[in-house]
Amino acid sequence: MQAQIIRQFGEADVFESAELFDPVAGSGQVVVKIAAASVNPVDYKIRRKGGAIAPALPAVLGCDMAGIVVSVGEGVTGFAVGDAVYGCVGGVRGLPGTYAEYIAVDVQLLAPAPKSLPLREAAALPLVTITAWEALFDRADLKAGESVLIHGGAGGVGHVAVQLAKARGAKVCTTVSSARKAEIARSLGADVTIDYRTEAVEDYVKRLTGGQGFDVVFDATGGKDLVNAFAAARLNGRVVTIVSQYECDLSLMHRKGLSLHVVFMLIPMLHDIGRTHHGEILREAAALVEAGKLRPLIDPSHFTLAQVADAHRHLESGRALGKVVIDAA
Ligand code: NDP
Repeated sequence: MQAQIIRQFGEADVFESAELFDPVAGSGQVVVKIAAASVNPVDYKIRRKGGAIAPALPAVLGCDMAGIVVSVGEGVTGFAVGDAVYGCVGGVRGLPGTYAEYIAVDVQLLAPAPKSLPLREAAALPLVTITAWEALFDRADLKAGESVLIHGGAGGVGHVAVQLAKARGAKVCTTVSSARKAEIARSLGADVTIDYRTEAVEDYVKRLTGGQGFDVVFDATGGKDLVNAFAAARLNGRVVTIVSQYECDLSLMHRKGLSLHVVFMLIPMLHDIGRTHHGEILREAAALVEAGKLRPLIDPSHFTLAQVADAHRHLESGRALGKVVIDAA
């Protein structure tokens, strides 16, 4: 099969085309013919520097994909040849990635793709949806009627978080950096948008919560925003973040009695624990798609497998609006 591989870590030009052996479905696996993959920041972070979560070189990167099952391994139930599936399935230590024509996948990480979405759009959902789900529901335990502030409501994780929170029945406020992104966030269900460049935390907390703070704050940006999240949360509120690889003063957290949760959604893939939960989340997410409550925001760019390097450059440029998708051809 054709694949894009890297033999060293570095800038996007480390990608090269390669002919690899077709994968074979092991026990508990299916082989999927990939229709589309999508790019996540973790893909270019691994590509740039490798590190503890990186696959061994030479490597095929790429976490997300959607495609069609072409063979089924021993012991697999619930999936058959011809099924359309989607999942966040590889591209990290121990697992081959999705920048390839085919991939052998642990079925625990898979779910049937939403029928109402083209596969290229389904491929945009898995990693960001699992992340937002674990943050809002598994960790912050967001409930109907609660107020939630989502940092970065037009970003990859943020735009799904807005929709999941809305579907749960929460009052959804989100930070964005432009009028265009505000419009997108509102079209996805945000009740209120905040331009974080022009309005200080204290001001929007006062304007939107009478100074009390939000029940839940989800920092989904990748910035060093945790202190702002603490400032926006109510007394005894819950804060959840997906980026915490930096030092941060926790004293405000103490004064407000906050709880802090960190999600690292790659753990099931890296350590082979809790993988079925990812499949379950994707099944529930597919039902939300079918119910018209969840849709991916897709960047208008078009890339094929041979153009993975350009797809990475596009996401890294910060100019992408929504998820960057790589079509098989
Ligand atoms: P994107 O690049 O798609 O989105 C990031 C968003 O954050 C953009 O919309 C950006 O908008 C916004 N943003 C940046 N700074 C701020 C700020 N100060 N306030 C409000 N919004 C801000 O990335 P993803 O959503 O895919 O991922 C976000 C980060 O989370 C990445 O660093 C990624 O690696 C990490 N991540 C971690 C996971 C985990 O399991 N721990 C899982 C998934 C992602 P604008 O430019 O307009 O400000």
